[in-house]
Amino acid sequence: MNATNDPDVTGDSPAISCATCEACCCRLEVLLMGDDDVPERLTARDQWGGWVMRRLDDGWCAALDRSTLLCTIYARRPAVCREYQVGDYECLGERARLLPGNPAGTRL
Ligand code: SF4
Ligand code: SF4
Repeated sequence: MNATNDPDVTGDSPAISCATCEACCCRLEVLLMGDDDVPERLTARDQWGGWVMRRLDDGWCAALDRSTLLCTIYARRPAVCREYQVGDYECLGERARLLPGNPAGTRL
């Protein structure tokens, strides 16, 4: 969950960056930890009682600005989002799954 349109680009795959994405990882469930300090209104309980970032009907995290695809609480984003790395296995998997018509996961 980068959601910064981070200009960082992985060396081996120059097309893989948040700027060529659609905040795919911000559709994943974000489990919150005790130290996380996010606005309560953006959180929810999942079906198992876990504390998570709330997602809206479109599937994206409630903290995502739908027009810019940037995180509106970037400075306070949860630990899970801080640890998520652009270009890693999960990132590439989400891009391949959600970016339409492009199995390589690079937006055309
Ligand atoms: S899935 Fe990867 S490229 Fe897309 S926003 Fe998340 S970290 Fe950035
Ligand atoms: S808190 Fe921010 S970075 Fe994390 S999933 Fe939500 S919008 Fe994305």
